[in-house]
Amino acid sequence: MFEWSDEDLMVRDAVRGFIDKEVRPNLDALESGELPPYDILRSMLAAFGMDTMNAERLEADLAAEEAGEQKKGGGSNALADSMFLILNMEMAGVSLGLIASMGVSMGLTVSTIRSRGTLAQKRRWLPGLVTMEKVGAWAITEPDSGSDALGGMKTTVKRDGDDYILTGNKTFITNGPYADTIVVFAKLDEGDGTPMRERKVLTFVLDAGMEGLTLGKPFKKMGMMSSPTGELFFDNVRITKDRLLGETEDTGSDRRGGDSAKAGFTAERIGIAALSLGIINECQRLSIDYAKSRTLWGQEIGRFQLIQLKLAEMEVARLNVQNMLFVAMEAAKAGKPPTLAQASAMKLYSSRAATEVAMEAVQLFGGNGYMAEYRVEQLARDAKSLMIYAGSNEIQVTHVAKGLLAD
Ligand SMILES: Cc1cc2nc3c(=O)[nH]c(=O)nc-3n(C[C@H](O)[C@H](O)[C@H](O)COP(=O)(O)OP(=O)(O)OC[C@H]3O[C@@H](n4cnc5c(N)ncnc54)[C@H](O)[C@@H]3O)c2cc1C
Repeated sequence: MFEWSDEDLMVRDAVRGFIDKEVRPNLDALESGELPPYDILRSMLAAFGMDTMNAERLEADLAAEEAGEQKKGGGSNALADSMFLILNMEMAGVSLGLIASMGVSMGLTVSTIRSRGTLAQKRRWLPGLVTMEKVGAWAITEPDSGSDALGGMKTTVKRDGDDYILTGNKTFITNGPYADTIVVFAKLDEGDGTPMRERKVLTFVLDAGMEGLTLGKPFKKMGMMSSPTGELFFDNVRITKDRLLGETEDTGSDRRGGDSAKAGFTAERIGIAALSLGIINECQRLSIDYAKSRTLWGQEIGRFQLIQLKLAEMEVARLNVQNMLFVAMEAAKAGKPPTLAQASAMKLYSSRAATEVAMEAVQLFGGNGYMAEYRVEQLARDAKSLMIYAGSNEIQVTHVAKGLLAD
């Protein structure tokens, strides 16, 4: 694959049509945090028939699982699905927060329950999540952990008869303020003196409204205000065993559950390349238009070589990120999705490229670039977030190097 197919371009145009009609008129309300993103996301899913399609696919998968059939594919399918990537890319160029909220709810939250839940747990929580009737959140980060998410985790569960009691708190949780269904990671305190860092990490599903669970208010952020982010507080929340994912404390060879997280990390990091490409495309489009229309000293600024350099560097970034994405899509289709180290390299490069392109777009627009009306300042603020979450870029460096130095 070296370019989008005609069918892909038709999907892209349809997505752009939806964005122009439903998203752009609401952008100020979304980007001030005044309008939560969920109703617009639900109407987007409905407009493209994705709510029905997701519900039908889920039902077919669960029926097959019930019948004891082995599920096909799993995990990396999203990468081979160009409609899904185009949707992410196009939305990111307009309101990264919208797609981030959807990605956490329908991506991380759903995939964790799907890969680790029992059939009954999947039936209980997935139907609402795959249509976004319910808002999902995925909570691992804590004030004192972050990049050291598993080792530094302090949120704790203790057994109490057949139940567990959860205490602690999480922060920076996408959709946290509006979550209906929350996947939460916690250390098991077995009362045997096992050091905190060594304790097992168990994964639970909570529902909003449970006693002792408090959802914090949305934080004010540098960008992505269309994606509500907040804290979660657990004050002796009683959890029945049917909320423990897999209904087992067996976390496999890695006590902290890191093994099963790897496929999710790979998909998430490649997803960041699609989001980065969306921001690069939009910045380049806006910059070219501006370079052709802004006149100084009697000529378009696009005639100045230093402006041309900015456009050329945007094009280099666009080609590189797009090519990386195409290669990853082809590899996934061929059943050989990128390794974690390769996905980390893609995330590292593409998020940096998107941030640099967006900052250069602000510069190209001059004073107008610094004004909210011209949108490039929002794209620059949004792009920066891509260097921080889904594993900070410094952590990506360690994963790329680990891959290179292995053996
Ligand atoms: C908008 C947004 C949404 C988020 N959504 C979620 C969510 O839905 N769920 C969730 O669980 N979390 C979420 N997060 C949290 C996110 O995953 C963390 O912010 C991220 O992992 C970094 O952790 P930290 O912020 O604690 O930074 P820290 O880990 O404190 O890092 C501080 C600095 O040290 C660097 N650093 C850390 N370790 C190393 C190292 N070994 N070598 C070199 N440098 C290092 C980091 O790169 C960073 O520059 C979100 C964050 C943001 C900003």
